[in-house]
Amino acid sequence: MVKIIIVGAKGRMGQALLACAKNFRELEVIAQVGRGDDLVAVIGKGNVVIDFSSPGATAGSVELCARNKKAIVIGTTGFSDSEKSEIGNRKSEIPIVLASNFSTGVNTLFWLTRKAAEILGDGFDLEVVEMHHRLKKDAPSGTAKSLAEILASVRRQQLEKIARHGRVGLVGERTASEIGVHSIRGGDVVGDHTVIFANHGERVELTHKASSRDTFANGALRAAQWLVKQKPGLYDAGRARVEMNSEARIQKPEFQKIVFIALGSNLGDSRQTVLDAMASLQNFSAAPILKSSLWETSPVNCPPDSPKFVNAMAGLMPKEDETPESLLKKLRELEMEFGRPPKKVLNEARPLDLDLIVFGNETRHSPELMLPHPRAHERRFVLQPLSEIAPELILPGQGKTVLQLLAGLPADETVTRLDW
Ligand code: NAD
Repeated sequence: MVKIIIVGAKGRMGQALLACAKNFRELEVIAQVGRGDDLVAVIGKGNVVIDFSSPGATAGSVELCARNKKAIVIGTTGFSDSEKSEIGNRKSEIPIVLASNFSTGVNTLFWLTRKAAEILGDGFDLEVVEMHHRLKKDAPSGTAKSLAEILASVRRQQLEKIARHGRVGLVGERTASEIGVHSIRGGDVVGDHTVIFANHGERVELTHKASSRDTFANGALRAAQWLVKQKPGLYDAGRARVEMNSEARIQKPEFQKIVFIALGSNLGDSRQTVLDAMASLQNFSAAPILKSSLWETSPVNCPPDSPKFVNAMAGLMPKEDETPESLLKKLRELEMEFGRPPKKVLNEARPLDLDLIVFGNETRHSPELMLPHPRAHERRFVLQPLSEIAPELILPGQGKTVLQLLAGLPADETVTRLDW
């Protein structure tokens, strides 16, 4: 169990972190530190601090973490260059993740921005526009600064020399080298960012809009889970995410021994049911199980007005003497334990559905058991979570990897990741 301490716990992000942490079985919040509370008194109890407070407060947290050899995940924005380099100076002492934005979408926007800037070249005018809620204290947002820094680095320029923050009065024509950065404040906007590439006759705009702080909170919590296993160093959210995903992936030679089970629920507290069922599956495995994220998916071939599903995928190492038939029996018993009555209507809403997708290289063709699952290769709600833990798996009988099958599916099923 990783014990976390949240600094800035009473703030908007602090509250989101507390709510989201409940969905992480491997994490326990052991202390909440707000303004006026003493981090010194609790730091010994934790493995990692997650700090979303203010630049001054975060500097103190970093100092204390370094003294006590604790990892720290920093989401706070608005640091001056010297504050940032002071944080960086601690990288030889403790593991640190410092990220202006922990959402998957924004980290994708970072990548797309660099790519677009490289492709479009110097002929395009570059502007970054951000909008946040009226209570945000720093401007421009840390994310807008990161976007502008990416653009400047592609042009081999230093941002502070070419950044143009807002325009007012008779400012003259725009220069080709400047990067405009503009901050809008209002209402309860969680965070919108647009990067504009404008040329004569055409314009490219890349936009990300966050509608929930959970996306940042889940990213920071996952980073904390990953960070406690790292050596001292300064990491960003993208690195944490990529490395976490590759840790969870299975190497090809192991596929022939692994069992994949799809979990689904669309009745009751589906998220909790899937998390609990995932924990129970561990009893059937000879090694720690591999777990995908949770995904919210649209019902497929279900009665009208069926609720959405929560789906996930687990990878198990079967115990000695386990057969597909003996495991299937255990899965049916587990479904019953979670309150699933015998089927009356095809694909009716259910508290828990456990489907045996693959059992190593085994194949079965009986009415009771088809292996691999006959429709697995055409369902996004199966392939998407499977692609997180076994992207290179080739389902027996299919000539393509899970990732290739996924890329070829029509876009009629919607799947949305619930965790980062
Ligand atoms: P907020 O103002 O709602 O919360 C900040 C909290 O920190 C407040 O409760 C404040 O009392 C507390 N605080 C201040 N000084 C403290 C101290 N010395 N010790 C303990 N607590 C202290 O702000 P927010 O919207 O939660 O955002 C917090 C920070 O996180 C901001 O810098 C914001 O830009 C940043 N943020 C980052 C991301 C990201 O993904 N990296 C996402 C959202 C917000």
